[in-house]
Amino acid sequence: MHVGTPTGTNAPSLVRHGPLALRRLLIAAGARCAVGFGAPRLSVLIFHRVLAKPDSLLASEPDAKRFAQIIDWIATRFTPLPLAEALERLQTGTLPDGAVCLTFDDGYEDNLTVAAPICRHRNVPFTVFIASAYLDGGIMWNDLVIESIRRAQGDVIDLTDLGYGRHPLPDTQARASLVDSLLRSWKYLPFDRREQLAHELAARCAPKVPSPMLSRNQVRKLASAGVEIGGHTVTHPILTLTEKSAAMREIAQNKADLEGLIGHSLRFFAYPNGSPDKDFTESHAGMVRSAGYAAALTTESGVSSPDTDTYRLPRFTPWDRSALRFSVRLLLNARHPR
Ligand SMILES: [Zn+2]
Repeated sequence: MHVGTPTGTNAPSLVRHGPLALRRLLIAAGARCAVGFGAPRLSVLIFHRVLAKPDSLLASEPDAKRFAQIIDWIATRFTPLPLAEALERLQTGTLPDGAVCLTFDDGYEDNLTVAAPICRHRNVPFTVFIASAYLDGGIMWNDLVIESIRRAQGDVIDLTDLGYGRHPLPDTQARASLVDSLLRSWKYLPFDRREQLAHELAARCAPKVPSPMLSRNQVRKLASAGVEIGGHTVTHPILTLTEKSAAMREIAQNKADLEGLIGHSLRFFAYPNGSPDKDFTESHAGMVRSAGYAAALTTESGVSSPDTDTYRLPRFTPWDRSALRFSVRLLLNARHPR
């Protein structure tokens, strides 16, 4: 590890040196956690977007400044690796201390325009998992909801006829709460119903919403810059709510489409939504394997060890506002090899 790591035996010096020493200890411990205290352990971080500037309706997404801080921590305290190399070295027992991989899900344009320059500057490689239906101007249902509520005119929105009540919108906080509540209630609806509701909302509030997704040409640019492109299904359905043949088609067509686009095989897949047993099952892991993927990633927290199921690799979400919180949470995360 790049940082000297105090142990529990120097607790008295922590008392002497106060919060700063404690902070340093925890940051160093957080860095060490990716090592798993001796055993090879791999932390994979999951992001979706990196915003050019902060956005109160997208509060869980880092902006460029915040992301640059995270990437600085990673570049200075950990050992960032390309996903393929990390997984190979996990299996061969040659994983370096503090090994971390960076991943982005869905295929947002800001992965290229905002995140990529920051990562390139600090030499941090990353993987982008793409839902191919939304390339070239598409928009996912959740973004349609967010952008519709952002643009809703007036101080009230009435969704009574859709079965979702009447909501005062006095300020941005109220809009953010309504977005959160609609996303939660609609997430597990059948795919077509979810699409219908999101498009109905958009028709009322925001008939023209710009697409936040990558174009096909931008995907080529990412791939030719050395970014690993991975599969994430065609339309991003929750696989457990999708018929078996349709789920297989979603996985296979997405792979074929992206391979046609970038001109080489895809090696890795990320399950949409990604909670094991809730959003996908062993049966879907089998489909991913038979489609030709070498490994698949979930959104379950934890770190990977050589014993981790290659089609169920956990990931960690770095949403923390400080290096200290990030390190503590990463430390706790490392206690859960899958
Ligand atoms: Zn996704």
